[in-house]
Amino acid sequence: MKQVILKQGREKSVKRLHPWIFSGAIQKVTGSPGLGETVEVLTAGGLFMGRGAWSPESQMSVRMWSFTDTEIGPDFFRRKIEEAIALRKPPVIGADTTGIRLIYSESDGLPGFTADRYGDYLVCQISTAGADYWKDTLVAILREVVPCKGVFERSDLSVRKKEGLGESVGLLWGEEPPEVIEINEEGRKYGLSIQTGHKTGFYLDQRDNRSLVGSCSRERDVLDCFSYTGGFAVAALTGGARHVTLLDSSGPALARADLNIRLNGLSEDKYTLVEVDVFHALRKFRTDNRLFDLIILDPPKFVESRHQVDKGARAYKDINMIAMQLLKPGGFLFTFSCSGHMEDLLFQKIVADAAIDAGREMKILRWLSQAPDHPVITSFPEGKYLKGLMAMAT
Ligand code: SAH
Repeated sequence: MKQVILKQGREKSVKRLHPWIFSGAIQKVTGSPGLGETVEVLTAGGLFMGRGAWSPESQMSVRMWSFTDTEIGPDFFRRKIEEAIALRKPPVIGADTTGIRLIYSESDGLPGFTADRYGDYLVCQISTAGADYWKDTLVAILREVVPCKGVFERSDLSVRKKEGLGESVGLLWGEEPPEVIEINEEGRKYGLSIQTGHKTGFYLDQRDNRSLVGSCSRERDVLDCFSYTGGFAVAALTGGARHVTLLDSSGPALARADLNIRLNGLSEDKYTLVEVDVFHALRKFRTDNRLFDLIILDPPKFVESRHQVDKGARAYKDINMIAMQLLKPGGFLFTFSCSGHMEDLLFQKIVADAAIDAGREMKILRWLSQAPDHPVITSFPEGKYLKGLMAMAT
Protein backbone atom coordinates (compact mmCIF):
# COMPACT_ATOMS: atom_id res chain seq x y z
CA MET A 1 0.00 0.00 0.00
CA LYS A 2 1.44 3.39 -1.01
CA GLN A 3 0.53 5.83 1.70
CA VAL A 4 1.40 9.33 2.86
CA ILE A 5 0.86 9.87 6.58
CA LEU A 6 0.55 13.48 7.68
CA LYS A 7 2.06 15.00 10.81
CA GLN A 8 -0.16 15.58 13.80
CA GLY A 9 -2.57 18.47 13.10
CA ARG A 10 -1.41 18.97 9.51
CA GLU A 11 -4.62 17.67 7.93
CA LYS A 12 -6.41 21.01 8.31
CA SER A 13 -6.02 22.21 4.74
CA VAL A 14 -6.90 18.77 3.36
CA LYS A 15 -10.07 18.81 5.45
CA ARG A 16 -10.91 22.12 3.79
CA LEU A 17 -10.52 20.37 0.41
CA HIS A 18 -7.37 22.24 -0.56
CA PRO A 19 -5.46 20.05 -3.02
CA TRP A 20 -1.84 20.83 -2.08
CA ILE A 21 0.19 19.01 0.58
CA PHE A 22 3.66 20.41 1.26
CA SER A 23 6.63 18.23 2.21
CA GLY A 24 6.75 19.81 5.70
CA ALA A 25 3.32 18.40 6.54
CA ILE A 26 4.35 14.80 5.91
CA GLN A 27 5.41 12.42 8.67
CA LYS A 28 5.93 9.20 6.74
CA VAL A 29 5.65 7.67 3.28
CA THR A 30 5.13 3.94 2.86
CA GLY A 31 5.31 1.62 -0.15
CA SER A 32 7.91 3.66 -2.10
CA PRO A 33 5.57 5.41 -4.57
CA GLY A 34 7.16 6.41 -7.87
CA LEU A 35 7.01 9.81 -9.62
CA GLY A 36 3.35 10.77 -10.10
CA GLU A 37 1.93 7.56 -8.67
CA THR A 38 -1.29 7.61 -6.68
CA VAL A 39 -0.99 7.55 -2.90
CA GLU A 40 -3.53 7.32 -0.10
CA VAL A 41 -3.40 10.24 2.30
CA LEU A 42 -3.93 9.56 6.01
CA THR A 43 -3.93 11.71 9.11
CA ALA A 44 -1.43 11.02 11.89
CA GLY A 45 -4.23 9.11 13.62
CA GLY A 46 -4.76 6.89 10.57
CA LEU A 47 -7.92 8.54 9.23
CA PHE A 48 -8.28 8.21 5.43
CA MET A 49 -8.44 11.66 3.75
CA GLY A 50 -8.44 10.79 0.05
CA ARG A 51 -6.01 10.06 -2.78
CA GLY A 52 -3.44 12.21 -4.49
CA ALA A 53 -0.46 12.21 -6.82
CA TRP A 54 3.04 11.80 -5.40
CA SER A 55 5.59 14.44 -6.45
CA PRO A 56 8.80 13.44 -4.66
CA GLU A 57 10.96 16.12 -6.32
CA SER A 58 8.67 19.00 -5.46
CA GLN A 59 8.06 20.96 -2.26
CA MET A 60 4.44 20.29 -3.06
CA SER A 61 4.68 16.59 -2.37
CA VAL A 62 1.07 15.61 -3.00
CA ARG A 63 -1.71 17.08 -5.15
CA MET A 64 -5.04 15.60 -4.15
CA TRP A 65 -7.09 13.95 -6.87
CA SER A 66 -10.01 13.18 -4.61
CA PHE A 67 -11.18 13.65 -1.03
CA THR A 68 -13.29 10.47 -1.10
CA ASP A 69 -12.32 6.84 -1.54
CA THR A 70 -12.95 6.90 -5.32
CA GLU A 71 -10.49 4.81 -7.31
CA ILE A 72 -8.16 7.02 -9.35
CA GLY A 73 -8.22 5.74 -12.93
CA PRO A 74 -9.95 6.14 -16.32
CA ASP A 75 -13.50 6.30 -14.89
CA PHE A 76 -12.52 9.01 -12.42
CA PHE A 77 -10.75 11.08 -15.08
CA ARG A 78 -13.64 10.68 -17.53
CA ARG A 79 -16.06 12.05 -14.94
CA LYS A 80 -13.84 15.06 -14.24
CA ILE A 81 -13.31 15.81 -17.93
CA GLU A 82 -17.00 15.48 -18.76
CA GLU A 83 -17.93 17.79 -15.90
CA ALA A 84 -15.43 20.39 -17.07
CA ILE A 85 -16.64 20.26 -20.68
CA ALA A 86 -20.30 20.49 -19.61
CA LEU A 87 -19.55 23.72 -17.75
CA ARG A 88 -18.17 25.44 -20.86
CA LYS A 89 -21.49 25.42 -22.71
CA PRO A 90 -23.91 28.35 -23.18
CA PRO A 91 -24.69 30.49 -21.27
CA VAL A 92 -21.22 30.28 -19.68
CA ILE A 93 -19.35 30.27 -23.00
CA GLY A 94 -21.08 31.40 -26.19
CA ALA A 95 -21.86 28.74 -28.80
CA ASP A 96 -19.92 30.62 -31.51
CA THR A 97 -16.74 30.94 -29.45
CA THR A 98 -14.13 28.46 -30.68
CA GLY A 99 -11.16 29.33 -28.47
CA ILE A 100 -11.96 27.90 -25.03
CA ARG A 101 -10.09 26.70 -21.96
CA LEU A 102 -11.70 23.27 -21.50
CA ILE A 103 -9.82 22.09 -18.43
CA TYR A 104 -8.29 24.44 -15.89
CA SER A 105 -6.14 22.32 -13.61
CA GLU A 106 -7.06 22.40 -9.88
CA SER A 107 -10.21 24.42 -10.62
CA ASP A 108 -11.57 21.42 -12.53
CA GLY A 109 -10.29 18.87 -10.04
CA LEU A 110 -7.34 17.89 -12.21
CA PRO A 111 -4.20 19.46 -10.68
CA GLY A 112 -1.50 19.99 -13.29
CA PHE A 113 -3.71 19.34 -16.32
CA THR A 114 -4.82 22.19 -18.57
CA ALA A 115 -6.45 21.77 -21.96
CA ASP A 116 -7.57 24.39 -24.47
CA ARG A 117 -9.55 24.08 -27.67
CA TYR A 118 -8.69 26.20 -30.68
CA GLY A 119 -11.12 25.34 -33.49
CA ASP A 120 -10.59 21.68 -34.44
CA TYR A 121 -7.43 21.26 -32.35
CA LEU A 122 -6.74 20.68 -28.68
CA VAL A 123 -3.68 21.78 -26.73
CA CYS A 124 -2.62 20.20 -23.44
CA GLN A 125 -0.29 21.62 -20.85
CA ILE A 126 0.94 19.34 -18.09
CA SER A 127 2.70 20.84 -15.10
CA THR A 128 2.80 18.13 -12.41
CA ALA A 129 4.21 14.62 -11.99
CA GLY A 130 0.71 13.28 -11.28
CA ALA A 131 -0.86 14.68 -14.44
CA ASP A 132 2.19 13.51 -16.42
CA TYR A 133 1.82 9.98 -15.03
CA TRP A 134 -1.76 9.85 -16.36
CA LYS A 135 -1.04 11.80 -19.57
CA ASP A 136 -1.99 9.04 -22.04
CA THR A 137 -5.23 8.28 -20.20
CA LEU A 138 -6.17 11.96 -19.92
CA VAL A 139 -5.47 12.65 -23.59
CA ALA A 140 -7.33 9.52 -24.78
CA ILE A 141 -10.43 10.48 -22.78
CA LEU A 142 -10.26 14.13 -23.78
CA ARG A 143 -10.19 13.41 -27.49
CA GLU A 144 -13.10 10.99 -27.12
CA VAL A 145 -15.19 13.54 -25.26
CA VAL A 146 -14.21 16.42 -27.56
CA PRO A 147 -13.98 15.27 -31.18
CA CYS A 148 -10.97 16.97 -32.79
CA LYS A 149 -8.41 16.68 -35.56
CA GLY A 150 -5.33 16.66 -33.38
CA VAL A 151 -3.97 17.07 -29.86
CA PHE A 152 -0.76 19.04 -29.34
CA GLU A 153 1.28 19.27 -26.13
CA ARG A 154 2.71 22.62 -24.96
CA SER A 155 4.38 21.54 -21.72
CA ASP A 156 7.26 24.00 -22.18
CA LEU A 157 6.93 25.15 -18.60
CA SER A 158 9.83 25.90 -16.27
CA VAL A 159 7.78 24.67 -13.26
CA ARG A 160 8.12 21.13 -14.62
CA LYS A 161 11.75 21.11 -13.48
CA LYS A 162 10.59 21.30 -9.87
CA GLU A 163 8.52 18.19 -10.53
CA GLY A 164 11.44 16.23 -11.97
CA LEU A 165 10.04 16.54 -15.49
CA GLY A 166 11.66 17.92 -18.65
CA GLU A 167 9.89 20.09 -21.22
CA SER A 168 7.63 18.27 -23.63
CA VAL A 169 6.30 19.82 -26.82
CA GLY A 170 4.80 18.06 -29.83
CA LEU A 171 1.92 16.22 -31.38
CA LEU A 172 0.24 13.74 -29.04
CA TRP A 173 -2.43 12.45 -31.39
CA GLY A 174 -3.92 13.00 -34.85
CA GLU A 175 -2.92 15.72 -37.30
CA GLU A 176 -0.27 18.36 -36.68
CA PRO A 177 -2.11 21.68 -36.27
CA PRO A 178 -1.52 24.14 -39.15
CA GLU A 179 0.88 27.02 -38.49
CA VAL A 180 -2.02 29.40 -38.06
CA ILE A 181 -5.39 28.51 -36.58
CA GLU A 182 -8.34 30.85 -36.77
CA ILE A 183 -10.73 31.19 -33.85
CA ASN A 184 -13.97 33.08 -33.30
CA GLU A 185 -14.52 34.97 -30.11
CA GLU A 186 -17.85 36.71 -29.64
CA GLY A 187 -17.84 37.86 -33.23
CA ARG A 188 -14.12 38.67 -33.43
CA LYS A 189 -11.64 36.60 -35.42
CA TYR A 190 -8.06 35.85 -34.41
CA GLY A 191 -5.27 33.84 -35.98
CA LEU A 192 -2.84 32.17 -33.56
CA SER A 193 -0.11 29.58 -33.43
CA ILE A 194 -0.50 26.59 -31.14
CA GLN A 195 3.15 25.70 -31.66
CA THR A 196 4.72 29.07 -30.87
CA GLY A 197 2.12 31.40 -29.31
CA HIS A 198 2.26 32.57 -25.70
CA LYS A 199 0.67 30.19 -23.18
CA THR A 200 -1.03 27.63 -25.44
CA GLY A 201 -1.41 30.13 -28.27
CA PHE A 202 -3.69 32.91 -27.03
CA TYR A 203 -4.78 34.84 -23.91
CA LEU A 204 -8.19 33.22 -23.56
CA ASP A 205 -8.52 34.57 -20.02
CA GLN A 206 -9.09 38.14 -21.32
CA ARG A 207 -12.09 37.25 -23.53
CA ASP A 208 -14.77 39.05 -21.47
CA ASN A 209 -12.53 42.06 -20.91
CA ARG A 210 -11.90 42.32 -24.64
CA SER A 211 -15.67 42.34 -25.22
CA LEU A 212 -16.07 45.04 -22.58
CA VAL A 213 -13.35 47.16 -24.17
CA GLY A 214 -15.12 46.68 -27.50
CA SER A 215 -18.36 47.98 -26.07
CA CYS A 216 -16.62 51.09 -24.67
CA SER A 217 -14.57 52.01 -27.74
CA ARG A 218 -17.00 53.71 -30.13
CA GLU A 219 -15.46 56.87 -31.61
CA ARG A 220 -12.56 56.68 -29.15
CA ASP A 221 -8.87 57.14 -29.75
CA VAL A 222 -7.43 53.99 -28.14
CA LEU A 223 -3.97 53.06 -26.87
CA ASP A 224 -3.36 49.30 -26.49
CA CYS A 225 -0.21 48.81 -24.39
CA PHE A 226 1.42 45.35 -24.42
CA SER A 227 -0.85 44.51 -27.34
CA TYR A 228 0.70 41.11 -28.16
CA THR A 229 -1.24 39.83 -31.22
CA GLY A 230 -3.93 42.49 -31.02
CA GLY A 231 -6.48 40.85 -28.71
CA PHE A 232 -7.79 44.13 -27.33
CA ALA A 233 -7.04 46.17 -30.46
CA VAL A 234 -9.32 44.00 -32.59
CA ALA A 235 -12.07 44.33 -29.96
CA ALA A 236 -11.69 48.11 -29.88
CA LEU A 237 -11.74 48.43 -33.67
CA THR A 238 -14.69 46.09 -34.21
CA GLY A 239 -16.38 48.10 -31.45
CA GLY A 240 -16.05 51.26 -33.54
CA ALA A 241 -12.84 52.89 -32.24
CA ARG A 242 -11.72 55.89 -34.27
CA HIS A 243 -8.09 54.75 -34.12
CA VAL A 244 -5.97 52.27 -32.15
CA THR A 245 -2.26 52.57 -31.41
CA LEU A 246 -0.72 49.19 -30.56
CA LEU A 247 2.50 49.10 -28.51
CA ASP A 248 4.58 45.96 -28.04
CA SER A 249 8.28 45.14 -27.89
CA SER A 250 7.83 42.05 -30.06
CA GLY A 251 7.96 42.51 -33.83
CA PRO A 252 6.46 39.06 -34.59
CA ALA A 253 3.57 39.73 -32.15
CA LEU A 254 2.80 43.02 -33.92
CA ALA A 255 3.02 41.33 -37.33
CA ARG A 256 0.39 38.86 -36.19
CA ALA A 257 -1.69 41.73 -34.73
CA ASP A 258 -1.58 43.39 -38.15
CA LEU A 259 -2.93 40.22 -39.80
CA ASN A 260 -5.56 39.80 -37.07
CA ILE A 261 -6.89 43.32 -37.58
CA ARG A 262 -7.15 42.78 -41.33
CA LEU A 263 -8.79 39.41 -40.78
CA ASN A 264 -11.65 41.38 -39.23
CA GLY A 265 -12.00 43.53 -42.33
CA LEU A 266 -10.72 46.75 -40.77
CA SER A 267 -8.96 49.35 -42.82
CA GLU A 268 -5.27 50.22 -42.49
CA ASP A 269 -5.81 53.87 -41.60
CA LYS A 270 -7.55 52.84 -38.40
CA TYR A 271 -4.47 51.61 -36.56
CA THR A 272 -0.76 52.14 -35.95
CA LEU A 273 1.69 49.44 -34.86
CA VAL A 274 4.67 50.54 -32.80
CA GLU A 275 7.51 48.19 -31.84
CA VAL A 276 8.69 49.82 -28.64
CA ASP A 277 9.25 49.49 -24.90
CA VAL A 278 5.97 50.62 -23.32
CA PHE A 279 7.80 52.31 -20.41
CA HIS A 280 9.60 54.58 -22.90
CA ALA A 281 6.68 55.08 -25.25
CA LEU A 282 4.34 56.28 -22.51
CA ARG A 283 6.90 58.91 -21.43
CA LYS A 284 7.34 60.03 -25.00
CA PHE A 285 3.57 60.49 -25.43
CA ARG A 286 3.57 62.56 -22.23
CA THR A 287 6.37 64.78 -23.51
CA ASP A 288 4.48 65.20 -26.80
CA ASN A 289 1.18 65.98 -24.99
CA ARG A 290 -0.50 63.15 -26.86
CA LEU A 291 -3.83 62.20 -25.23
CA PHE A 292 -6.16 59.21 -25.61
CA ASP A 293 -9.82 58.39 -24.86
CA LEU A 294 -9.17 54.82 -23.77
CA ILE A 295 -5.99 53.09 -22.62
CA ILE A 296 -5.39 49.39 -22.03
CA LEU A 297 -2.51 48.24 -19.84
CA ASP A 298 -2.14 44.46 -19.99
CA PRO A 299 1.51 43.87 -19.13
CA PRO A 300 3.31 40.54 -18.68
CA LYS A 301 3.64 39.21 -15.13
CA PHE A 302 5.78 41.73 -13.24
CA VAL A 303 5.58 39.55 -10.11
CA GLU A 304 6.77 35.97 -10.65
CA SER A 305 7.21 35.08 -6.97
CA ARG A 306 6.34 36.35 -3.50
CA HIS A 307 9.76 38.02 -3.28
CA GLN A 308 9.12 40.22 -6.30
CA VAL A 309 5.94 41.91 -5.07
CA ASP A 310 7.62 45.23 -4.19
CA LYS A 311 9.59 45.47 -7.39
CA GLY A 312 6.53 44.51 -9.42
CA ALA A 313 4.40 47.04 -7.56
CA ARG A 314 6.75 49.84 -8.64
CA ALA A 315 6.51 48.78 -12.29
CA TYR A 316 2.69 48.61 -12.17
CA LYS A 317 2.53 51.99 -10.48
CA ASP A 318 4.86 53.56 -13.04
CA ILE A 319 2.87 52.58 -16.12
CA ASN A 320 -0.48 53.30 -14.47
CA MET A 321 0.61 56.75 -13.39
CA ILE A 322 1.76 57.78 -16.85
CA ALA A 323 -1.24 56.20 -18.56
CA MET A 324 -3.55 58.25 -16.31
CA GLN A 325 -1.73 61.42 -17.37
CA LEU A 326 -2.40 60.53 -21.01
CA LEU A 327 -6.17 60.26 -20.58
CA LYS A 328 -8.58 62.93 -21.71
CA PRO A 329 -11.25 63.88 -19.14
CA GLY A 330 -13.88 61.13 -19.32
CA GLY A 331 -11.27 58.73 -20.72
CA PHE A 332 -11.25 55.08 -19.70
CA LEU A 333 -8.35 53.10 -18.26
CA PHE A 334 -8.44 49.30 -18.41
CA THR A 335 -5.57 48.14 -16.25
CA PHE A 336 -4.62 44.55 -15.48
CA SER A 337 -2.25 42.36 -13.51
CA CYS A 338 -1.96 38.65 -14.26
CA SER A 339 0.39 38.03 -11.31
CA GLY A 340 -1.20 35.54 -8.94
CA HIS A 341 1.07 36.80 -6.15
CA MET A 342 -0.42 40.28 -6.36
CA GLU A 343 -3.56 40.49 -4.22
CA ASP A 344 -6.60 42.29 -5.66
CA LEU A 345 -6.63 44.90 -2.94
CA LEU A 346 -2.91 45.60 -3.29
CA PHE A 347 -3.39 46.12 -7.01
CA GLN A 348 -6.20 48.58 -6.32
CA LYS A 349 -3.94 50.43 -3.85
CA ILE A 350 -1.18 50.64 -6.44
CA VAL A 351 -3.63 52.13 -8.93
CA ALA A 352 -4.82 54.56 -6.24
CA ASP A 353 -1.22 55.62 -5.52
CA ALA A 354 -0.62 56.04 -9.23
CA ALA A 355 -3.63 58.38 -9.43
CA ILE A 356 -2.27 60.53 -6.59
CA ASP A 357 1.13 60.78 -8.29
CA ALA A 358 -0.50 61.44 -11.64
CA GLY A 359 -2.56 64.24 -10.12
CA ARG A 360 -5.73 62.68 -11.52
CA GLU A 361 -8.98 61.72 -9.87
CA MET A 362 -9.90 58.25 -11.12
CA LYS A 363 -13.24 56.54 -10.54
CA ILE A 364 -13.36 52.75 -10.55
CA LEU A 365 -16.35 51.64 -12.59
CA ARG A 366 -15.74 47.91 -12.70
CA TRP A 367 -13.61 45.20 -11.10
CA LEU A 368 -12.46 42.73 -13.74
CA SER A 369 -11.14 39.20 -13.71
CA GLN A 370 -10.56 36.11 -15.82
CA ALA A 371 -13.22 34.67 -18.16
CA PRO A 372 -15.52 31.92 -16.81
CA ASP A 373 -13.67 29.11 -18.58
CA HIS A 374 -10.99 29.87 -15.94
CA PRO A 375 -13.25 29.21 -12.93
CA VAL A 376 -12.15 29.33 -9.31
CA ILE A 377 -13.18 26.53 -6.99
CA THR A 378 -13.91 27.99 -3.54
CA SER A 379 -11.50 25.62 -1.79
CA PHE A 380 -8.67 26.73 -4.12
CA PRO A 381 -8.60 30.54 -4.32
CA GLU A 382 -5.13 30.33 -5.92
CA GLY A 383 -7.00 29.63 -9.17
CA LYS A 384 -7.73 33.34 -9.45
CA TYR A 385 -4.79 35.25 -10.87
CA LEU A 386 -6.07 37.85 -13.34
CA LYS A 387 -7.35 41.08 -11.92
CA GLY A 388 -8.19 44.36 -13.53
CA LEU A 389 -9.95 47.66 -13.07
CA MET A 390 -11.97 49.77 -15.43
CA ALA A 391 -11.57 53.34 -14.25
CA MET A 392 -12.59 56.72 -15.63
CA ALA A 393 -10.54 59.88 -15.44
CA THR A 394 -12.70 62.75 -14.23
N1 SAH B 1 -2.92 42.07 -24.17
C1 SAH B 1 -2.50 40.86 -24.81
C2 SAH B 1 -1.56 40.04 -23.96
C3 SAH B 1 -0.32 40.76 -23.48
S1 SAH B 1 1.02 39.68 -23.16
C4 SAH B 1 -3.72 40.04 -25.25
O1 SAH B 1 -4.85 40.29 -24.77
O2 SAH B 1 -3.56 39.14 -26.07
C5 SAH B 1 2.31 40.78 -22.82
C6 SAH B 1 2.95 41.39 -24.04
O3 SAH B 1 3.84 42.39 -23.54
C7 SAH B 1 3.80 40.50 -24.91
O4 SAH B 1 3.37 40.59 -26.22
C8 SAH B 1 5.25 41.05 -24.80
O5 SAH B 1 5.93 41.04 -26.04
C9 SAH B 1 4.98 42.47 -24.39
N2 SAH B 1 6.01 43.15 -23.58
C10 SAH B 1 6.67 42.71 -22.48
N3 SAH B 1 7.42 43.68 -21.94
C11 SAH B 1 7.25 44.79 -22.73
C12 SAH B 1 7.74 46.13 -22.70
N4 SAH B 1 8.56 46.53 -21.73
N5 SAH B 1 7.34 46.97 -23.67
C13 SAH B 1 6.50 46.57 -24.65
N6 SAH B 1 5.98 45.34 -24.70
C14 SAH B 1 6.36 44.45 -23.78
